[in-house]
Amino acid sequence: MNAPSPAVTCDDCAAACCKLEVVCLTETGVPRHFTARDAWGAVVMERLDDGWCAALDRDSLLCRIYEQRPLLCREFEMGGPDCLAEREAAWHNS
Ligand code: SF4
Ligand code: SF4
Repeated sequence: MNAPSPAVTCDDCAAACCKLEVVCLTETGVPRHFTARDAWGAVVMERLDDGWCAALDRDSLLCRIYEQRPLLCREFEMGGPDCLAEREAAWHNS
């Protein structure tokens, strides 16, 4: 696996990872109104028409439920392979 890139920071990223499907695997206290059910009945973070997670503050691009965010969000590694892939995809779609 590639090492995280030290040059990458969330400060210059339009919260690309907050457009990913996030399954709520454990109970972390996510307010119910930010969640939905996927086609298989699993609890996921709801995403709005702009593609971003319902819990993202659209102005600051910060998570509004940071302390309660799902496990997957906690484990998403800034500068890791998934992060770099999402940044790349977002750049191409902009
Ligand atoms: S994709 Fe990477 S750099 Fe962008 S907000 Fe997510 S963790 Fe931060
Ligand atoms: S819960 Fe927060 S960190 Fe996770 S996708 Fe939504 S806005 Fe992003």
